Amino acid sequence: MLYPEQFDVIVVGGGHAGTEAALAAARMGCKTLLLSHNIETLGQMSCNPSIGGIGKGHLVKEVDAMGGAMALATDEAGIQFRILNSSKGPAVRATRAQADRVLYKAAIRRMLENQPNLSLFQQAVDDLMIEGDRVVGAVTQVGIQFRAKTVVLTAGTFLDGKIYVGLNNYAAGRAGDPPAVSLSARLKELKLPQGRLKTGTPPRLDGRTIDFSKLQEQPGDGVAGGMSPVMPVFSFMGRLDMHPQQMPCWITHTNERTHDIIRSGFDRSPMFTGKIEGVGPRYCPSVEDKINRFADKDSHQIFLEPEGLTTHEYYPNGISTSLPFDVQYDLVRSMTGLENAHILRPGYAIEYDYFDPRSLKSSFETRQIGGLFFAGQINGTTGYEEAAAQGMFAGINAALQAGAKTQWTGDTWMPGRDEAYLGVLVDDLITKGVTEPYRMFTSRAEFRLQLREDNADARLTETGRKLGLVDDARWDAFCRKRDAVSRETERLRSIWVNPNNLPATESERVLGKAIEHEYNLGDLLRRPDVDYAGLMSLDGGKYANRDLPAPVSRETPDAAVLAQDVFVASVIEQVEIAAKYSGYITRQKDEVERSAHYENLRLPAELDYMQVSALSIEARQRLNKYRPETLGQASRLSGITPATISLLLIHLKKGN
Ligand code: FAD
Repeated sequence: MLYPEQFDVIVVGGGHAGTEAALAAARMGCKTLLLSHNIETLGQMSCNPSIGGIGKGHLVKEVDAMGGAMALATDEAGIQFRILNSSKGPAVRATRAQADRVLYKAAIRRMLENQPNLSLFQQAVDDLMIEGDRVVGAVTQVGIQFRAKTVVLTAGTFLDGKIYVGLNNYAAGRAGDPPAVSLSARLKELKLPQGRLKTGTPPRLDGRTIDFSKLQEQPGDGVAGGMSPVMPVFSFMGRLDMHPQQMPCWITHTNERTHDIIRSGFDRSPMFTGKIEGVGPRYCPSVEDKINRFADKDSHQIFLEPEGLTTHEYYPNGISTSLPFDVQYDLVRSMTGLENAHILRPGYAIEYDYFDPRSLKSSFETRQIGGLFFAGQINGTTGYEEAAAQGMFAGINAALQAGAKTQWTGDTWMPGRDEAYLGVLVDDLITKGVTEPYRMFTSRAEFRLQLREDNADARLTETGRKLGLVDDARWDAFCRKRDAVSRETERLRSIWVNPNNLPATESERVLGKAIEHEYNLGDLLRRPDVDYAGLMSLDGGKYANRDLPAPVSRETPDAAVLAQDVFVASVIEQVEIAAKYSGYITRQKDEVERSAHYENLRLPAELDYMQVSALSIEARQRLNKYRPETLGQASRLSGITPATISLLLIHLKKGN
C-alpha cells in the first residue's frame, strides 16, 4: 500500500541519532515521519545508563544549544551528576550524568509525541524506494510504502546484527530486539561501501544480591560526600528542581582470581577464536581484551552504576564481555561485594554492518544516492552522544534539502572544526573514516580552548535560531545570559581601584599582595589566583553587582530561586573564563583566521584529479575516490601530504 500522505523527511530508527534527527527536521517545519521497530524502545540506552563524559558532554551541550533533546532528557532522568576534570582547565571540564533508563526513555518519548510536524510509526523498514539515483521513500516489513523527499537512516547496531555469548551466537539488533537483515541486504545491493564492527556490554546485576557494605561509595556532586557542593545541570535550559532523587555509584575491583577465570575462558571467547571479525572500540574494551592487552596489571576498577530509581538492576562498568555465561558467572562472583551477585542479563558482544563515512558528503548525504542521509552508529561511531549529535546534524541537512523554510541561507550546514565538536566529528568521519568504532575525545579538537562545554550556547544558539531549531523561550534565555555577561564584563572594566581607595589589608586578602597602581576589576580578574567571588567581597562587598547575587544555598527548594542560581553561576563563569583565558583564546582565533582561506577553499566538484599530473598516482586516486569538498578536508585525508596540498594549490591557482 502507498501511504496516502507524503513526507518531507523520513527518519528510520528511533535511537539517539534518529530521535534527534526527527526532532530537528520537525522543528525546522518539515513534515517528518519517524519509523522505528518499536515505539516502546524510542530513546533506549542500549548499554551504559549514563550520558556525557569528557568530549561526549561537549557534544551533548552542543546538541542542547541548538534546541536538541538529550541534555533536557538527562536533566529529567539524571540520578547522579558530576563534573569530570573539575580541577583542570575549562576546556576539558565535562558533565556526566547517571540516568534512570525508564525516566530517560519517557522524557524522549514525551518530547517526540508533543513535537508539531512529527508523526511516529512502528514498523521495521525492509527496503528503500529508489528512483534513478535518488531515494524517494521507505518500505516497511508489511509492505507499506512511505514517500518522502529525503530519508535519514539511523539503524545503529541493527544492520545484520549478530549477538555472541561464548561460542553461541544468534541474529539480533541488541538483546531483546530483532536485527535489520532485509534492509542490510538491500544496502549491500546498492553497493554502498561497508564493513563490520563490534561492541559489547557487561552482564547486569541484581542489587539485592550485592554487598554494598564492602564497597566504596561514590556520591555525585551536590550531595553529601560529593566532590563539589554544587550539583550541575546538563541543559542550558535545565533547572536543579528537574532532577529526580539522586543515587550513589559504588566501586569494586577485579583481582588475580578474576583475571585467572577470564583467561580460562579465552579458548571459548568469540573474539580470540576468530568468530567475530569486526573491530571493537579500543577505548571501551571488553574485560577479556583488557586482561589480554595489559597482562601486567593485577587489578582494574569496576564502577557499579544504578540503572534507575524503580529497579534493583546495576550496570558493572568495566566488565563488558562476550565470554561464555559460566565464565561470566564466576568472574562476577570473584570480586569483593559480588560474591553472591545474581546476573539478571548476560553480557554479550554484537557485530553489525557499518558504512564507510568517507562515502558521505559533508552534509552526511550519501554520495551514491541523492536524498539519503546516514547518522549515528551506522557511520562507524560508538556512543549515544556521538549518535545524537550526528542525528541532529543529518536531520538539519535533510530538512534543508527537503526545502525547510528558515533564515539559513545555505543549502547545507556544517560547523567548522573551530566552531564545534560536531564539526570535528563530521570532518574526522568524512576525511579519515574509521578503523574501529569512533568516539569523541577532547584531544581530537585542535581548537579546544574555544570549544568548551560552558560556551556551547555562545557558539551555536544563534545558528540554531537561524535554522529554525531554537524556540522563543530558549532564545530569550540565551539573549538574557549573553547580555548579562557583556554588561558585567563592561561593568568590571569600568570600576577602577587604586592604592588610595583600596585598603592594603583587603588587597592582600583577595589579591595576595597590595596593588602598586590603579587597575580595573576586569584586569585584576585576569590574574590566575584572583576569582570573581573574591573581587565582589572586596571592601565589604562595595563592588558587588546586585543583579548577580552570590549563588544561593542548595537547600532552598524554591524553583525560581534555583533557576536564578543556575543563571547567575553561568553568567559569572563566562565572565571569569573570558577574562582568564582571553590571551590564549585570542591567539587561537588568530590562528583560525590565518588558516581560514586555505581551510575553506572549495575544490571544483568536477575536477578530475587523475589529470593533475604533478600529483603522485596514489594521491590522485585518493582524491578522486573521496572527493573532498575543501582544501582543508583534502589535507586531512590519509595519505595526502602537505606537499600534495601545495601542488594542488599551485594547480588551482594556475586555473587548470
Ligand atoms: P541505536 O541506539 O542502536 O538505535 C537504532 C534504532 O533504529 C533502534 O530504535 C532500532 O529499533 C531502529 N532500527 C534499526 N533498524 C531498523 C529498521 N530496519 N526499521 C526500523 N527501525 C530500525 N556506546 C558507548 O558509548 N559505550 C559502550 O560501552 C557501548 N556499548 C554498547 C554495547 C552494546 C551491546 C550496544 C548494542 C551498543 C553499545 N554502545 C555503546 C553504543 C550505543 O548504544 C550506540 O552508539 C548508540 O545507541 C547509537 O545510537 P543510534 O541512534 O545510532 O542507534
